[in-house]
Amino acid sequence: MMTEAKLKRLAQKWQRILRLQDWDIEIAPVQAEHVDRQAGNTALCERQVNEHAATIPIAMMQQDKEIVEDMVHELLHVKLTPLELLYRNVRQLVGPIASNLAESCWDDIDEPLVSELAHALLEVHGYGD
Ligand SMILES: [Zn+2]
Repeated sequence: MMTEAKLKRLAQKWQRILRLQDWDIEIAPVQAEHVDRQAGNTALCERQVNEHAATIPIAMMQQDKEIVEDMVHELLHVKLTPLELLYRNVRQLVGPIASNLAESCWDDIDEPLVSELAHALLEVHGYGD
């Protein structure tokens, strides 16, 4: 069973693997099946980019494996922050047609890519702490 202590150990392991030690990351376990019931999310990544800080709420009423996948997934969003900022900045510089195209491309690419990377990394490094 996943405990808060184990989740924090896992977060440290993954912060090291992903070289995210320069970020102040707080994993916030939520005793529910969803962190955002309306959107159906089981985890979120709330970033304060200027402070290099992030809070990651994760729904704890899931299988251990799913909790770890959620955590690695959200940490990858933190890792990819510079890329996302670049994308957002470029979108502001181009016209509405290019901006809309970029947005729809980003939406098609970002989430599946992050999920695939999370699974690939978990296959290599394992689900344990
Ligand atoms: Zn995501």
